Amino acid sequence: MLRRSVAFKIAATVGFSCLALTLVVLAWVMLTGRLTEGFHLHAIGGTLLAIIVGVVTFLVVKIYLTTPLRKLTEVIVSAVQGNFLSRVKLGTRDELERLGGDFNKLLAKLTDFQASKIDADLELDMAQRELKYKEQLEEQTHIIENTNKKLTRRLSELALLYEVNRMLTSTLEIDEILKMLTEKVGGAVQVDELTVLLIDEKKNKLRIAAILGDPRASWSVNQLVDPMTGLFSESLRKGNHFLIPDLSRVPLKGKDWDYLPDNGSFLSIPMNDKNRLLGLLNFVRNDKQAFSEHQIKLLTSVTRQAALAILNAQLYQEKLDLSVTDELTKLANRRKMQTRLELEWNRARRFNSNLSLLMIDIDHFKRYNDRNGHLLGDKVLQGVARILEGNTREVDTVARFGGEEFVVILPGQDQQTAKSVADKLRRAVYGHNFPRTQSQPGGHLSISVGVAAYPGDADDPKVLLDKSDLALYVAKRAGRDRTVSYEQELERVEADRQKALAAKKNRRRRHKRKPRMELAKPN
Ligand code: GH3
Ligand code: MG
Ligand code: MG
Repeated sequence: MLRRSVAFKIAATVGFSCLALTLVVLAWVMLTGRLTEGFHLHAIGGTLLAIIVGVVTFLVVKIYLTTPLRKLTEVIVSAVQGNFLSRVKLGTRDELERLGGDFNKLLAKLTDFQASKIDADLELDMAQRELKYKEQLEEQTHIIENTNKKLTRRLSELALLYEVNRMLTSTLEIDEILKMLTEKVGGAVQVDELTVLLIDEKKNKLRIAAILGDPRASWSVNQLVDPMTGLFSESLRKGNHFLIPDLSRVPLKGKDWDYLPDNGSFLSIPMNDKNRLLGLLNFVRNDKQAFSEHQIKLLTSVTRQAALAILNAQLYQEKLDLSVTDELTKLANRRKMQTRLELEWNRARRFNSNLSLLMIDIDHFKRYNDRNGHLLGDKVLQGVARILEGNTREVDTVARFGGEEFVVILPGQDQQTAKSVADKLRRAVYGHNFPRTQSQPGGHLSISVGVAAYPGDADDPKVLLDKSDLALYVAKRAGRDRTVSYEQELERVEADRQKALAAKKNRRRRHKRKPRMELAKPN
């Protein structure tokens, strides 16, 4: 391919122009030779020549220079505006075309560069999006992990509550429940100390019912404490939980000083069910700030369950008590007396200790009833019951044996001590101002008491009862208003007593027998 430079083209243009000029001059010489000389012809010829040279030069410059340069400029402008896809097409086969070709290569490179930039941008964009998704994913994972943790914690709490519930509802024995509370529940809820305080309605005090951990000075099970003062019972007065996050910051005094440790944290939650306040649970942890809001909620649920279990046990106990309580005197009935006697008998045997029994009977009570009526007689029975209760210890059992007869079981007492207890009771009844006792012999209400003791007088609880009854029989025979202790000597009246018992039975049987309805005989 023949390449021609712009200089060559300009040179050729000028050359052609000169050649054309020479031809014109030649033509003009030839013409002037024929047309003779004349100034106007010279002028016209020169002008024509100039026009021809000008037109040829213009055409050549336009075709070879101006047009390619315009095309080149257009592509450059378009490239400047960001369009790298247009190309220079000159077809001039000169430096301009080469320049255009080089510019095209540049554009191609720019296009490649732009394409790779787009790819890079895309990749960057994707990477950024991936990063964002990753962050979102991490956030979601975090949320899921947290939810998972919460669920796991909730699950273990529910399992704990279920376990606590299962334990506490497995029995209706209050002692068992208290034991479980301290031994099992306390461990399950991870406290270092746990005290159960129950309201003693009769005494209007709080009774320390159970303790987990080392009881400090003057805090022991069954002790009664005042509910009106002290941080240990604050929750009861507040009617809501009471928290001391750091015990080292609180100056302790009085009962609190005995009870609460110097360090750690303390939480007290009242136990109530509906409107009934039962007591409170006090929790101690050795670390300070050891009860979070969440923990308080959990322990409140545990306390609610404990309250329910204790209430159920108390109601059950009340029912049981009713079935073994004498309705009139509110003393233990004969059934309960027998159970207690068995229990105390076994204990006395096991520990090789004494056990005494008093059989008590009101003297001439029939006469009192006959003169004053049964209603007043009932009042006397109640009064005697209170006197017997008031003059014996907590560990003793006072029971109504039947009618106007009472039994007192005295664990740990020998016959001699039991006799002095009997005399004290006799004096108390005799000294009491019962209404309308003028009609009674001596103008007083009196009792007779028979005493028998283990191990000296009997080798069986029934025999112990029987021997005290024999002693009572002797006391009656001897004139009443006295105490007689069993001794072998008394056995000589045993036959008489058996006769008297049989006669009494017969009297009762006759008394109970209802008159028969006479059936009309068929004709
Ligand atoms: P003694 O000194 O020999 O014991 O004479 P007593 O009259 O007390 O004995 P007796 O066995 O003859 O009578 C017992 C009386 O107790 C008969 C009965 O009217 C009375 N009594 C029994 N149970 C009750 C009761 O629940 N209420 C009342 N008011 N009286 C009762
Ligand atoms: Mg009697
Ligand atoms: Mg009597």
